[in-house]
Amino acid sequence: MGEVRTRFAPSPTGFMHIGNLRTALYEYLIARSQGGKFILRIEDTDQERYVEGAMDVVYDTLKATGISYDEGPGVGGDYGPYIQSERRGIYMEYARQLIEKGAAYYCFCTKERLDSLRESEGASFTYDRHCLSLTKEEVERNLAEGKPFVIRQKVPREGRTTFTDVVYGDITVDNDTLDDQILIKSDGMPTYNFANVVDDHLMKITHVVRGNEYLSSTPKYNILYQSFGWDIPVYIHLPSIMKDAHNKLSKRNGDASFQDLVKKGYLPEAILNYIALLGWSPGGTREFYTLKELEEDFTIEGLNKSPSIFDTEKLKWMNAEYIRKLSPEDFTALARPYIEEALGNSACDIGKISALIQQRTEILTDIPDKISFFRELPEYSSEIYCHKKMKTDREISLRALKLTRDLILRNDELEHEWTSPKLYEAFCLLASENEMKNSQILWPVRTALSGREVSPGGATELAEILGRGETMKRIEAGISKLEKELEG
Ligand code: GLU
Repeated sequence: MGEVRTRFAPSPTGFMHIGNLRTALYEYLIARSQGGKFILRIEDTDQERYVEGAMDVVYDTLKATGISYDEGPGVGGDYGPYIQSERRGIYMEYARQLIEKGAAYYCFCTKERLDSLRESEGASFTYDRHCLSLTKEEVERNLAEGKPFVIRQKVPREGRTTFTDVVYGDITVDNDTLDDQILIKSDGMPTYNFANVVDDHLMKITHVVRGNEYLSSTPKYNILYQSFGWDIPVYIHLPSIMKDAHNKLSKRNGDASFQDLVKKGYLPEAILNYIALLGWSPGGTREFYTLKELEEDFTIEGLNKSPSIFDTEKLKWMNAEYIRKLSPEDFTALARPYIEEALGNSACDIGKISALIQQRTEILTDIPDKISFFRELPEYSSEIYCHKKMKTDREISLRALKLTRDLILRNDELEHEWTSPKLYEAFCLLASENEMKNSQILWPVRTALSGREVSPGGATELAEILGRGETMKRIEAGISKLEKELEG
């Protein structure tokens, strides 16, 4: 085989399904790992499914994930155009060649006739070849009269067709089970079934990667290749990505697309890493790969047949690992809009909050809820002051808050150096002076400052971010709350 050439051939539907992105990634990796070329081709011949702006979704996704193409719309290349609707004339030309070879024919059947056939045959409907018996003269007359037509493939009735798929092995079908599929539709556009064969040949594609829903049509494509006398590419059909043991992941069932996941706060690098492993294994236990590393390690042999389950928890875990590894600056840049959303116009320092939450963030959209208490102390129950392990209850907490308030009021040094380490030192000293455990000061203060059972950061980190004034206000609020409860 000469140069390896692969293509990603999405139909622009307006979103990038996770399965499509995986296909793109594997095509890209096959090309890159073998020094070949990766091509983007837009399959937009189904005009009824046209979605405004859908092509941008494809371009943006590939850009966001770093999957770059050597040829395609906007980039150009020797085999363009790369948008199928701009190649319309080419398909008609090849369909005519097939008619001349006796491998395709005009069909003038009306929609009504086909509908009634379909009704009587049900799910097993295949075209009854009515128009195959038209004479040359009848066909010419119909064409001259301008009767609408489609062009159908003439599939041999006898014999069997066998093809080899890298993932699924050898597959053989009896030709008489294959339908005389439409190649050119009545609007003059090719069907996917025809355009993909013509384009894969003309664009010199060596490896075709796609979902296993195309396995059953592949024999018909092979017959087309044979009719033209063209070389058949290497086929790699991928098992579906499942949402559980029985259901496929699909946007139509409300499952996430790439765009949805990004909106939910997953990083493109983490998504790409995760889906690389949904159907491919490096043969060891390694789980973390950058795109560059995948380009080096990818092998076709590592692809497997078993359906993979899209496990959101695992993706979350992986995303958290990616977030942890970001530089503080990069994390702040990503987290900023979420932090600002939660803080509103409160004066808290974004950089400090960002540093506090980076190691505790799984997905970016978790951020606002995690830190909303900085903006405003939430309503809370005094119950959360009681913590067995911290050895606190309401009485101890009240005492702790009062001691802390007095300490802050009398300690000038703190006023001048209101930092978490300084506060920590002072609070621990306060605990030992009063024969209390550190936790018996720190837990109540943390609780009073956050109004939450859990918060990112401990008492002194929260105090530093809130500042002296707000810290005092919240401690006072805690004191009143506890006093009221204990009296009542
Ligand atoms: N346009 C087809 C799709 O989006 C591509 C299938 C293929 O890669 O051949 O499903």
